[in-house]
Amino acid sequence: MTVLSSKNRDDDVKNEMPSYFNLPSLDISVAFPQATPASKFPRCASDYYQFDDLLTLEEQSVRMKVKECMEKEVAPIMAEYWEKAKFPFHVIPKLGALCIAGGTIKGYGCPGLSITANAVATAEVARVDASCSTFILVHSSLAMLTIALCGSEEQKQKYLPSLAQLRTVACWALTEPDYGSDASGLKTTATRVEGGWILDGQKRWIGNSTFADLLVIFARNTTTNQINGFIVKKGAPGLTVTKIENKIGLRIVQNGDILLKKVFVPDEDRIPGVNSFQDTSKVLAVSRVMVAWQPIGISMGIYDMCHRYLKERKQFGAPLAAFQINQQKLVQMLGNIQAMILVGWRLCKLYENSKMTPGHASLGKSWITLRARETAALGRELLGGNGILTDFLVAKAFCDLEPIYTYEGTYDINTLVTGREVTGLASFKPVARRSRM
Ligand SMILES: Cc1cc2nc3c(=O)[nH]c(=O)nc-3n(C[C@H](O)[C@H](O)[C@H](O)COP(=O)(O)OP(=O)(O)OC[C@H]3O[C@@H](n4cnc5c(N)ncnc54)[C@H](O)[C@@H]3O)c2cc1C
Repeated sequence: MTVLSSKNRDDDVKNEMPSYFNLPSLDISVAFPQATPASKFPRCASDYYQFDDLLTLEEQSVRMKVKECMEKEVAPIMAEYWEKAKFPFHVIPKLGALCIAGGTIKGYGCPGLSITANAVATAEVARVDASCSTFILVHSSLAMLTIALCGSEEQKQKYLPSLAQLRTVACWALTEPDYGSDASGLKTTATRVEGGWILDGQKRWIGNSTFADLLVIFARNTTTNQINGFIVKKGAPGLTVTKIENKIGLRIVQNGDILLKKVFVPDEDRIPGVNSFQDTSKVLAVSRVMVAWQPIGISMGIYDMCHRYLKERKQFGAPLAAFQINQQKLVQMLGNIQAMILVGWRLCKLYENSKMTPGHASLGKSWITLRARETAALGRELLGGNGILTDFLVAKAFCDLEPIYTYEGTYDINTLVTGREVTGLASFKPVARRSRM
């Protein structure tokens, strides 16, 4: 028996192929003319309880400006970039012109938005594309906010203005391969040397890191054993960043593995206000509220897409929207979204009145993400086969929700944060078994 090499077999198969082998796929509008793809974004039908009534005029105008830009500039290209897992760098100046980077930070060229304006901007970005909202969130609500809340006056003046305009991009590196939920145990070290610090260690999952100009890195001070923060510049000797491939969600976001081998950081780039893990909590309080608004926006986009699709697509001689089961699913999604918006809005108000606790923020993030997952699953069903195509948004949004369910504290960890607050009992670490002997 002759066993063909795989190359010969491939050649044979190719020779047997008809002439249409390797033709590009049909444009979606030709392949499926009955319904409009998400590149032409659907009108907003998900704001059923008229959220604008709870917003100031300024917040409404931020919302409108972001919505228009996302629908016009990002919707037409997002499926293509998501498929290729590439970042659309040409969109950065357009996002910069929205003046939302830097969010709530006042001064230093930052927009000084109310937390509610920042939240609705996050939702409007996420409604069209969750990856874009993660890009801004990591840059703005994590990296920039750490510099604004914990940085020196010189660092704020030096770095924040160009970050606010998105002329430079930042990332925020806490997680390590061995320390995810248990981030406070991180092992990257910072050793004092003359004129600065030497960083050694590894980070994982860091959004924007493959191209960021500034990397905010957390490391353990080898003298005090406490967590400190540092600003590392792109291209620093000893720094390597490689892209994490094969993600099934937020594929436009460039997540990286960071290796730090004896990276020197001058004293002026140590962030003076980060002296323990607790110091990150001021930043995480704001960013967790913002993360809670991502699934709200994503769910709104899903609903808007389904609402249009069900009216356009006909089966059994009637639009899909005419079937009772489909209407029930649509209304369940709509109810979820109204409740999610109100919980998210209340979180913002608690924060603005200095009443928000870690438990409040964690409950908001975990509960909203859970409802968003349910909403996405219903939306995915409603679109039938097209519910698994990125062209119709819902499949992409469905996948994008998965990392959001996990990052910024998983659903479980956020639940345990609230659980600890309401019971007074922490249950993060397994109780050590007592020997009966
Ligand atoms: C797309 C993406 C982007 C990210 N971006 C960043 C970034 O920019 N910067 C950054 O620093 N990090 C980032 N992260 C990391 C993210 O914050 C972590 O993935 C997250 O904290 C969870 O850690 P882990 O993946 O190691 O899961 P693990 O900690 O290994 O958890 C695995 C499972 O065990 C559960 N679990 C763990 N501990 C407990 C416990 N005590 N009790 C009950 N259940 C528990 C978790 O809930 C989870 O279900 C990103 C992650 C992803 C996926």
